[in-house]
Amino acid sequence: MDYVETVVVGGGPAGSSCAWQLKRQGRDVLVLDKQSFPRLKLCAGWVPAKVMERLEFAPEDYPHSLLTLKTKLYFAPFPFPLLGGWAAPWRTDYSIRRVEFDQWLLARSQAPVITHKVSQIERRGDRYVIDNQFACTYLVGAGGTGCPVKRQLFPAPPAQAIQVATLEKEFAYRQRDDVAHLFFRFHGLPGYAWYVPKGNGFVNIGLAGASQALKQAHTHIRSQWQWFLADLVERGLLDAKTRSTLTPQGHGYYLFDSGGEVQNENAFVVGDAAGLASKDLGEGIGPAIESGLLAANAIVGQAEYRKSAIAAFSLNPSLQWLQYVWS
Ligand SMILES: Cc1cc2nc3c(=O)[nH]c(=O)nc-3n(C[C@H](O)[C@H](O)[C@H](O)COP(=O)(O)OP(=O)(O)OC[C@H]3O[C@@H](n4cnc5c(N)ncnc54)[C@H](O)[C@@H]3O)c2cc1C
Repeated sequence: MDYVETVVVGGGPAGSSCAWQLKRQGRDVLVLDKQSFPRLKLCAGWVPAKVMERLEFAPEDYPHSLLTLKTKLYFAPFPFPLLGGWAAPWRTDYSIRRVEFDQWLLARSQAPVITHKVSQIERRGDRYVIDNQFACTYLVGAGGTGCPVKRQLFPAPPAQAIQVATLEKEFAYRQRDDVAHLFFRFHGLPGYAWYVPKGNGFVNIGLAGASQALKQAHTHIRSQWQWFLADLVERGLLDAKTRSTLTPQGHGYYLFDSGGEVQNENAFVVGDAAGLASKDLGEGIGPAIESGLLAANAIVGQAEYRKSAIAAFSLNPSLQWLQYVWS
């Protein structure tokens, strides 16, 4: 059996940030991921500048394509660009492709990575044993919504946590400009829809809605997809021929809720495994990175890892009312 001080389950932004921080501190860490990288991750790939600050790199250090976005927000029933051209108090945002970004972050961590789907976790004395193959003192669950560490070592998600259903598609498309469009509560969607251009001739479009509120409104995220495509065609953001080729994929995750544990003895959950996406925009990359770094700091004994240390909102207080779009 292979022993390593820390095993991180999942090599997404949460897991790679944790591994990066541990390696920087000279600690022994192994990342296990069920998929080999580069791997597809459904995500609009919209990242605030804070993400790069936390990981100590500048946009120009990033070797793949990155677009600095301008943002337009639309609120039904008022289809006007409320923030068109207005920078503050909005932040500086970039778009990246997750297929590139996640692989780069994982390689940058310099942690060894093994492709392995984690199934069985046991506590044997002061060690965690994974699938009778790997043993460790510290175990970090960074396996996203269905993380096995979360499932096996932590209780169920807090009853109040909002689960978000999504549908999205990323596709090659001639890029017209650098404007990201966010459509809040259109067609009764308890959430928002997005159109996010990428710097390398790709576009990501998608919808996110609170699962419970969708159910109460007797609608489904799939039935919202068609109106959204029609709306984009009408706005000239999508051509009708491309529209007919788009088949979306879905994935669910949880928004931040102050309840629920994130540490159990020497086991930690970070990122989507801990349900940390922001309450206003449902962004998860920033909290994934923040929590990964915090868990690493706890392992090296520099700080306590608590949910309250992680930002629950993406935006500043003047825009946090956006959290009500999910209800
Ligand atoms: C459609 C959609 C759009 C989104 N858009 C944005 C956005 O624009 N900006 C933003 O900030 N957030 C966005 N999010 C949220 C964001 O994608 C997530 O919050 C973020 O990816 C969480 O990172 P993570 O590292 O916790 O998990 P993940 O990135 O999901 O990584 C988890 C890893 O764990 C691995 N894994 C899972 N199970 C096992 C197992 N049993 N054994 C081994 N490995 C395993 C997986 O293969 C995966 O590589 C979006 C989410 C969705 C669904």
